[in-house]
Amino acid sequence: MPEYLTTIGLEIHVELNTKTKMFCDSRNDALEKTPNTNVCPICMGHPGTLPVINRAAIEKIIAVGLALGCSIEKHSFFERKNYFYPDLPKGYQISQFQVPFCREGKLHIHGKTIRIERIHLEEDAGKLMHPPTGEAGMPGEDYSLVDYNRAGVPLMELVTHPDLSEAEDVRRFATELQLILRYLEASDADMEKGQMRVEVNLSVRPKGQKEYGTKVEVKNINSISAAAKSADYEVKRQIETIESGGTLVQETRGWDDVHQKTVSQRIKEGSADYRYFPEPDLPPIVLTDEEIEAIRASLPELPAARRVRFAEEYGLPQADVEILVVFKELGDYFEEVVSELKSEDNPLSGEAADYGKLAKTVANWLITQLQPKLFAASALPHDTKITPAAFADFVVRVVSGQVGSSAAQTLLQAMWETGEDPEDIIREKDLAQVSDSVSLNLYVEDAIAQSAKIVADFKAGKAPALKALVGKVMALSKGKANPQLAEEMLREKLK
Ligand code: MN
Repeated sequence: MPEYLTTIGLEIHVELNTKTKMFCDSRNDALEKTPNTNVCPICMGHPGTLPVINRAAIEKIIAVGLALGCSIEKHSFFERKNYFYPDLPKGYQISQFQVPFCREGKLHIHGKTIRIERIHLEEDAGKLMHPPTGEAGMPGEDYSLVDYNRAGVPLMELVTHPDLSEAEDVRRFATELQLILRYLEASDADMEKGQMRVEVNLSVRPKGQKEYGTKVEVKNINSISAAAKSADYEVKRQIETIESGGTLVQETRGWDDVHQKTVSQRIKEGSADYRYFPEPDLPPIVLTDEEIEAIRASLPELPAARRVRFAEEYGLPQADVEILVVFKELGDYFEEVVSELKSEDNPLSGEAADYGKLAKTVANWLITQLQPKLFAASALPHDTKITPAAFADFVVRVVSGQVGSSAAQTLLQAMWETGEDPEDIIREKDLAQVSDSVSLNLYVEDAIAQSAKIVADFKAGKAPALKALVGKVMALSKGKANPQLAEEMLREKLK
């Protein structure tokens, strides 16, 4: 069997989160539950109505283009893409064909550069629903319903060059693009909600063959992992078809999540079938350099830049950086906590402070202790009762040894529940670590008295027995003894 090369290009549609639709002032909320409420004569395509361009949608798509290193077309226009489908009330979609707003950008994913051919702006269609036959209160025959809440929602379409070569590239590209869209606040890009829709165009060819193989397009993919799985499935299916002497057809296939496979849907039409022509009801769009530069200047720090900065500025390991970049709000919160720790009235600040170590401690507690609480409560860090200042105070008490590590978890849980100051909680719950030698001595004496066998083991040269004795001290003190000091004291007494 010859070796095969896989070629993948992506077409990604993203709903932009403007307040109103692309060409009218109906509310842009495709998730609205009551059908056909966010509609008006314009997005319903009534004769005689005129569309008006939503400036905010153009600003958002330009921001996306600039973030992806595209060149921006200063002179562009909308066109009509003509086709009939019941979810398209006008009988055509207003889109861009000859001149997209953004061209030739790129996205770096783990050492690979994926070139972006174009990003254009268009309007979304409505949604068809096919309820089960005979459902209560509905006619007893096959029928379909249509909801136009989504019709006319601003939709960005991004097309890559065929630079991806495996399922993992699909996963990485979609994940990074989604993150950038969220940083830009252009879209939540939630695939389960249909806010981002990935189409995988894939072909295989035997190594050495120049021409691309027959291209298949996979649609109806509802998650990033399904996008990657559909790519894997197609590679396998296409190679098997070729190897068994079959013929591949250029077609559109859908992803069947239940059976974890792609299924044929239709034979693809070419762009000539759409009879594109410039939209006569809309003026051409002219952007000035000043307008473009103003959007560039307003771009936030993007994920790639944040990765570099978090590693350099805080010396965090890559795994921590990635979590704080992907969970942006946790990263923002992290920076506020560290900045509190650097403030002058903080007991750990000053020249002698080891900020690298402090930052690592903050990251550890945020990632391992706060993050699970946030996920369980579906909350963002700033929505909780723990302010960054209180969290910094907490870290100070942990680092200075005022609370031991198990008491620290109790303390954090109480802060989470009540929003009280760490100092008050430590007093109320008696969480302070016992480090004074008089109190500690009592626990150590008791531990030795109650553990004759372990003491004998230790004296006989079994070093691990000492850990068991420290454990005994911790148990007797209900976790409050300072374990390092307890160990030193035990070692001294058992010499
Ligand atoms: Mn499109």
